[in-house]
Amino acid sequence: MAASVAETPTSEVPERRNESAFLHSFSHLKTLRDDGATVIERGEGIHVFDTEGRRYIEGNSGLWNAVLGYDNRRLRDAAVRQYDKLPAYHAFFGRVPETSLALAERLAEIAPMPTEKVYFTNSGSEANDSVVKMLWMIARGEGKPEKRKIISRRHAYHGVTVMTASLTGKDYVEAFGLPLPEVVFAECPHYWRNARDGESEADYAQRLADDLDALIEREGADTIAGFFAEPVIGAGGVIVPPEGYFPAVQEVLRKHGIPLVADEVICGFGRTGKLWGSQTYGIEPDILVASKCITAGYFPMGAVLLTPEMARRLEAAAESYGEFPHGFTTGAHPVGAAIALEAIDILVDDGYMDRVAELGPRFQEGLQKLGRHRLVGEARGVCLMGALEIVADKESKEPFSEELEVSERIALSALSKGLIIRPLGNALVIAPPFVIDEAGIDEIVEIIGRTLDDVAAELDAA
Ligand code: PMP
Repeated sequence: MAASVAETPTSEVPERRNESAFLHSFSHLKTLRDDGATVIERGEGIHVFDTEGRRYIEGNSGLWNAVLGYDNRRLRDAAVRQYDKLPAYHAFFGRVPETSLALAERLAEIAPMPTEKVYFTNSGSEANDSVVKMLWMIARGEGKPEKRKIISRRHAYHGVTVMTASLTGKDYVEAFGLPLPEVVFAECPHYWRNARDGESEADYAQRLADDLDALIEREGADTIAGFFAEPVIGAGGVIVPPEGYFPAVQEVLRKHGIPLVADEVICGFGRTGKLWGSQTYGIEPDILVASKCITAGYFPMGAVLLTPEMARRLEAAAESYGEFPHGFTTGAHPVGAAIALEAIDILVDDGYMDRVAELGPRFQEGLQKLGRHRLVGEARGVCLMGALEIVADKESKEPFSEELEVSERIALSALSKGLIIRPLGNALVIAPPFVIDEAGIDEIVEIIGRTLDDVAAELDAA
């Protein structure tokens, strides 16, 4: 029987494994060398347990993906059945696993736009990267090799490959000498932070669409291959688009003949209360990218969905090269496909969309309650994704100085109380799994409330 988390000082929480061989992602390497990592041993429902037996609520569903919890028998059994039948195969040279073919059909059926072709990868980054290559190949095939620029948005997150890190509008990509010169950035649609005094949400959205139009005119529509957008910017801090934003943006893109790529890696499969973020925000994508919840996190997988028009243009371009010269060895893995088919059955057919839409308001009310805390400038989100923007001054929206690492301190203090949430710049991000219940949501809100009080007191005392 695992002990629930005792209230230990934050500095004593993580399990120590100094000098481990493991190189971590998006982590402070020096601190890990000194202090060791939290080593997760097992999971059950919404909880994970470390090697010391401490239990944590996974308030972020892992990395937004483990929405069905950590002990779903149906997903496990689907994997085992597939391992017994065909444990490995690829999708090159005209061959394809039967299960992967079935998954493509299923995704085309449930897509938010007419979908003719589905392409599989191992991750969201690879899927977005593949889209860029498709757009470039289409442009070249159509005799427009200069059509290479991609528009992304500041604070967007589209991945970590050379191209998708370039599309990621964060300062850290500078560490790699990125972005690539082909990438052009539009404004991040954050109403609370960026709107002018007295500007309505609708006016702000229209201004951003007008700015996008001007940007396209400046760059030259003939040089732009596509526009990437997450329905809700996720890893950029849960930035919910202002009212009317996507219809206005879409009108501008259509006028210039620029395809819209909806990066649904986080929003896809229910996070915003409908199956797709595109449905929540009135987006009609030309290309859609899915990943993460497609297998509920139980297998690496990404997928690119193409409308009949984009599929036809890609096929025509491929004709000039004799093939589509692109593919990942394990991109359409049959075990991943079997798990994804089962996950989709569970999410779509077992009432999860209704359940998520039911739980969403309770979570958002909890966030709004936390938003009254003096450390919180904005509580924002939609359905089961949310963020708290931490400020030094509620009125002026002034953040704390970076050296204080306030959001990191809050996340660490929450960890000591048995809750995993994620610090992201000045914000804290929370994305509970779909298998949570009302009591679980209330517990998350209660722990964060206590944590904010503790950290506020700590800051006062310093
Ligand atoms: N797009 C979005 C919107 C994401 O949130 C992420 C991952 N957080 C990615 C792409 C990249 O996915 P992956 O980490 O699977 O490469």
